[in-house]
Amino acid sequence: MAQANFFDQVTEYFNEAARFTNLPGGLLEQIRVCNSVYRFDFPLRRNTGDIEVIHAWRVEHSQHKMPVKGGIRYSPDVYEEEVMALAALMTYKCAIVDVPFGGAKGGIRIEPKDYSLDELERLTRRYAAELARKSFLGPGIDVPAPDYGTGEREMAWIADTYAALNPGQLDALGCVTGKPITQGGVRGRKEATGRGLYFALREACNEPDEMKRLGLSRGLEGKRIIVQGLGNVGFHAAKFCREGGGIITVIAEREGAIANPKGLNEDEVFSYRRDKGSILNFPGATNLTDSRAALEQECDVLLPAALEGVFTAENAPRIKAKIILEGANGPTTPDADPIFRQKGIFVIPDIYCNAGGVTVSYFEWLKNLSHVRFGRMQKRHEQANELNMLKAIEDATGRKFSDTERAAFAKGPDEQDLVNSGLEETMIAAFHELLTAQRQTKGIPDLRIAAFFIAIQKVARSYVEMGIFP
Ligand code: NAD
Repeated sequence: MAQANFFDQVTEYFNEAARFTNLPGGLLEQIRVCNSVYRFDFPLRRNTGDIEVIHAWRVEHSQHKMPVKGGIRYSPDVYEEEVMALAALMTYKCAIVDVPFGGAKGGIRIEPKDYSLDELERLTRRYAAELARKSFLGPGIDVPAPDYGTGEREMAWIADTYAALNPGQLDALGCVTGKPITQGGVRGRKEATGRGLYFALREACNEPDEMKRLGLSRGLEGKRIIVQGLGNVGFHAAKFCREGGGIITVIAEREGAIANPKGLNEDEVFSYRRDKGSILNFPGATNLTDSRAALEQECDVLLPAALEGVFTAENAPRIKAKIILEGANGPTTPDADPIFRQKGIFVIPDIYCNAGGVTVSYFEWLKNLSHVRFGRMQKRHEQANELNMLKAIEDATGRKFSDTERAAFAKGPDEQDLVNSGLEETMIAAFHELLTAQRQTKGIPDLRIAAFFIAIQKVARSYVEMGIFP
């Protein structure tokens, strides 16, 4: 099964990209391996009174920059090499978007639906306490975030557990990101991965040469998009891409898929699924009962946002998309990639395009360390400057701005504006760095290998400049 060697798959991509560097083999090996793998078990008292043993992991792939950072996944299918692979991807992802963290990932092997709220809270707190005890948690050590099966709620429990174990530690809230805004979270974090995916797709669609090669018009307007997984990443990516002019023609979930060539609204589908327990029979849409086969429908953009190992050598030949935007981590196996290349599909790789989450997590961490909301110091100051500028223009031209214009031109940035602006800048800069590396380095076949190539060199530079202790 494709998932059985996810870490080997990441290694395969790494090795392919490493060929284009002239770094020594030993240094490459040090970058490739996972530095620390912590596997542990702990007891959970179920509400029935029974004791259940919970299996969990935290992997720190690379400590070349501290703290290390990466989400926590709750899934019955979590296994060690998967967490290792996801931790490694985090190292490369942070390097690509210039977020100064090493890579990590955590996992608990549970199906969250099978546990009550207080059982979930107990096991999350115990997991956090186990990590803290072994120095795998802390604002300067290892900073988790949400991933598949976890969200703001779990992050708040982790922050509270860490703070309880470290009384008086001023920066305790920075031990985890993706928290609720009321608990030290930052505005824009929840939707950041989806928003980042939108920026990545918008940049790609604005590339005239690539669009010409794919036979597509420039711009996102009218592009038909298939989304797999209507969770945090899929929902928000669908929302921003639709608002940016794309048309969501298919949404695939666990229970099946629905299609409407005129377009689906992710918000309506989400509410419908929450109420009915399934997306099937959504008004105005056609049911596609085979959720996996739904990815093979005609479209311009295919957006996997569920789990890894979705595209393999078996189904890759039947994929009709022109662009694949990898919202999930590891959706394409290395045996599918050459098929996509041969078909001329433009794959925007996970280690770049889903980095919006970690980018805004970095902003949240900065906010926690500085103990002040972004924009609080400068919003009114900048607004006053903008109003002065408008007044000067009015005096010079004799034309008065309307109240609507005044409100639009002179608002001063608030936290959400600053976070979105930092995210947009990050995603645009990284996209062009990747594209330039691909175009300027002879033999690099696609953006994924270009992304690994850049990441490896940035991590290597850290080792070379910092030296090796002792
Ligand atoms: P999530 O738990 O919020 O959502 C996942 C969704 O996928 C759920 O709605 C689930 O029902 C659906 N799903 C599961 N199996 C499916 C299947 N076979 N077919 C269709 N749908 C299926 O998780 P998420 O946080 O959105 O993460 C999704 C992916 O994105 C993961 O690979 C994760 O590692 C990656 N990712 C997440 C973030 C983040 O900020 N949350 C950041 C970067 C990457």
